[in-house]
Amino acid sequence: MAKNRSELYSSTFQLFTDRSRGVPDLDRDEIKKMIEEEISSVEREIPIIKEQTRPVAPDNAIGRLTRIEAINSKSINEAALRSMQARLSGLKRALANIDDPDFGLCTECGEEIPVKRIKLVPESTRCVTCANG
Ligand SMILES: [Zn+2]
Repeated sequence: MAKNRSELYSSTFQLFTDRSRGVPDLDRDEIKKMIEEEISSVEREIPIIKEQTRPVAPDNAIGRLTRIEAINSKSINEAALRSMQARLSGLKRALANIDDPDFGLCTECGEEIPVKRIKLVPESTRCVTCANG
């Protein structure tokens, strides 16, 4: 027996809603809160590290060995600063995209990124397989 128009419409509609994208058990509010907390802690740490990347005083101001140590720790801190700034921008991007239906889907293969990974590394836009590939 042929379906009438409204039945046909509702079954088509059903098909679309069933195929809605996004990670089903993703608690966006919870993740959002976590990202916001992470952003504020990174923003607190950045100025502290920045303080330690100031130019090293000339030889006559501090001992030679101390100066070498200072230069070494300066470059370590500069690397730390760069990675924190990258993390911060990743977190901000994640926060901006959290209501996007594609949030939580791997940008490379389209698979769901496990919720555990999102909670651990909310700025990740790829699944473990693609990130390591
Ligand atoms: Zn992937």
